[in-house]
Amino acid sequence: MSELLFRINQVKARVANACLACGRAGDSVEILPVSKFQSESLIREVGQLGYSLFGENYVQEGSAKALHMPDLGFVLTGPLQRNKAKSALQYFREIMSVDRVELVARLRNMASELDVVRPIWIQIDLWHESTKVGGCSREELPALLDALGGDARLPLKGFMAIPPPHQKGCFQEVAVLRDEYQNRLGGTLLLSMGMSDDMEEAIAAGSDQVRIGTAIFGSR
Ligand SMILES: *Cc1c(COP(=O)(O)O)cnc(C)c1O
Repeated sequence: MSELLFRINQVKARVANACLACGRAGDSVEILPVSKFQSESLIREVGQLGYSLFGENYVQEGSAKALHMPDLGFVLTGPLQRNKAKSALQYFREIMSVDRVELVARLRNMASELDVVRPIWIQIDLWHESTKVGGCSREELPALLDALGGDARLPLKGFMAIPPPHQKGCFQEVAVLRDEYQNRLGGTLLLSMGMSDDMEEAIAAGSDQVRIGTAIFGSR
C-alpha cells in the first residue's frame, strides 16, 4: 500500500471513529484534502484515490493548479483580497473565506460580469483572531448577509471556521451560531471545521466537512 493510501485510510478511520463516538453516521462528514504547497503529482495521486475537490490557500497557486489539472476542482480556503476576487471566481469552484462586506460586493459584481455561479462559505471568527486568519464576527454577520442579498450566483453553503488551537468550546460556539442562522434564514447551512490536529473535536461539535492537509499529504 502506498504511504498516501495508508494516510488517507488513517484519516477515514479517524473520521469514522469520531462519528461513532458521538452517534453520527460514519459517512456524514466530508473530507476535503487541502493541497497547498503540495506538488501536482501528489495531488493527482490523491485524485486517483477518489477525491476530486481540493482546498488551496493562495489564489495564484490554486489558479495555476486549476489550469494544469482541469479534471480536478479547487476550493479557495485562504484569505481573499478584493483585487483577486475575479481570478478567484474564474479558477475556484467555491470560496470558503468570505468574511467582509466589501469583498461580498466585489464578488457579486465579478460573478455577474463573468456569468458564473460559485457556492460560498462565510468564514466566522468569534475569537478576535482576525489579524491572523480573517473572519466575520458575530456582530458583522447580519450586514454581511444583507450584502450577499441571497444572490443566486453566490449561494451560501455554510460557515467555515479556524478556531484558535486547543481552546475548548470554540467549535461548539460556531455550531450554535450556525443553528441560529439556519433557523433565521431557513434552509441548510453546513459547517466546515476541523483540520489534521482537531478533526475529532470538530466532528463532535457537528462539523459537516473537515479540511485535511498534513494528515493526508504529510508535512508541507
Ligand atoms: C492548511 C489549512 C488546512 C489544513 O491544515 P492541516 O493542519 O495541515 O490539516 C485547513 N484549512 C485551512 C484554511 C488551511 O489553511
